[in-house]
Amino acid sequence: MVDALIIGAGPAGLFAAHELSKNSKLSVTIVDWGQEIEKRTCPAFETGKCIGCKPCHIMCGLGGAGGMSSGILNLRYDIGGDLSKLTKSVPKAEKLVKEVDDIFVEHGAPNEVYGMDSEGIEELTRRAAAAGIKFIPIPQRHIGSEYLSDVINSLRRTLESRGVKFLFNSRVERVGKGEVVINGKKIKTKYLLVAPGRVGADWFAEQVKALGVKLTHGPIDIGVRVEVPAVVYEPVVKVNYDPKFHIRTKTFDDFVRTFCTNSQGFVMEERYDDHVGVNGQSLRAKKSQNTNFAFLVHIELTQPVTDTTAYGQSIAYLATTIGGGRPLLQRLGDLRAGRRSTWERIERGHVVPTLKSVTPGDISMALPGRVVTDILEGLDRLDKVAPGVASDSTLLYAPEVKLYAMQINVGQNMETNVPNLFVAGDGAGLSRGIVTAAATGLLAARGIIEKAAA
Ligand SMILES: Cc1cc2nc3c(=O)[nH]c(=O)nc-3n(C[C@H](O)[C@H](O)[C@H](O)COP(=O)(O)OP(=O)(O)OC[C@H]3O[C@@H](n4cnc5c(N)ncnc54)[C@H](O)[C@@H]3O)c2cc1C
Repeated sequence: MVDALIIGAGPAGLFAAHELSKNSKLSVTIVDWGQEIEKRTCPAFETGKCIGCKPCHIMCGLGGAGGMSSGILNLRYDIGGDLSKLTKSVPKAEKLVKEVDDIFVEHGAPNEVYGMDSEGIEELTRRAAAAGIKFIPIPQRHIGSEYLSDVINSLRRTLESRGVKFLFNSRVERVGKGEVVINGKKIKTKYLLVAPGRVGADWFAEQVKALGVKLTHGPIDIGVRVEVPAVVYEPVVKVNYDPKFHIRTKTFDDFVRTFCTNSQGFVMEERYDDHVGVNGQSLRAKKSQNTNFAFLVHIELTQPVTDTTAYGQSIAYLATTIGGGRPLLQRLGDLRAGRRSTWERIERGHVVPTLKSVTPGDISMALPGRVVTDILEGLDRLDKVAPGVASDSTLLYAPEVKLYAMQINVGQNMETNVPNLFVAGDGAGLSRGIVTAAATGLLAARGIIEKAAA
């Protein structure tokens, strides 16, 4: 029997363990499906092609989904989810972000914070506003992929020195009241904190439904990955490494945003059980001539149909079918002209795709017309801030679909309606980023400590 068992060694689980081991005498064990960080390795980093490892090294293991990323800490309470909705107070949410950031710095995150160049930000904000776009300035700390494993291992050492135990390569098969099942073996626990990230979200939703936990569908984001010559986006990434632009489109008044910018990076294929998708990455050792970013339309469904996940999945299946099992690639000029792209047309453009295992085709046959209109209108608008973004040669890869976890209904202490079952992070639909996930871990740990003291 352990006092507190945590599922998931991502930011949510690690920061919960940090708080529990610092401020309580509860025994803590963290279980993770993946491995120690130094054993995590992804073939797609070399080839751009996912071969479907189980567990996926990118998503699973010590450090969680961001463990192999460049570790950008977005130091705003309302980026990667809105913490103030959980804390019911903006100052409390801001304080949480600072606490998370301080712990990262204590464990070796670099001191510099980017996105604070007030002159550059002012100018970019002005240019964006003139184009009817909201630029969201975000102070960001870049841990960098070369340091991230050191920071995470430092956190692990601190936790182990305080008695926290780690079980790697251990997939929790079932969650019950006060117990979990791993490899057919039951482990009893007084408090269970489930932080399984996006990779464990669907499994977890099934588990909690069986336990009678209340959950709701969250919104989804659907769109494309845009690839442009790095020089085109250079003036923007110089001011903010991962610039966030928020756009309301003309025809539908839909919300479109930029997300996950990879300067001189590569577009990557993501392979799921039944569909493909795209993402982006920047590599330490290898640079491309291009910059890519996600351009996503926000979709919420209202009564009587609220299952955004099923809607997003059906779009992803359709895109996969049209792409013959590969992501679709189209030049923006071809999409505008209503014709499919071919390799010959792509070669005529001046952007060389960084992902080659794609099918040149017609994105308008895969994504809903409304989404395509939003993308075309949004890119035309963004072109006023970064001229060249909406050039005919600009490459669009589809589908980029962000399906978030179903949102588990929790109180401020992250406890569900099942007593002593706490949740945190992306897998519970409470966050969408490293800092916010870690912050929900702190909240859950405080909830457990409070309960244990009562
Ligand atoms: C490639 C990539 C790059 C990213 N870069 C950034 C970035 O720069 N900045 C940023 O803010 N965000 C980034 N993110 C998002 C960020 O990583 C996540 O928002 C964050 O890690 C979520 O934290 P979490 O603790 O909720 O879950 P996760 O980090 O996903 O961790 C969940 C853990 O639970 C484990 N798990 C799941 N199910 C089970 C089970 N049944 N049994 C045992 N263990 C299980 C998994 O193995 C995993 O290790 C990135 C994501 C990816 C995929």
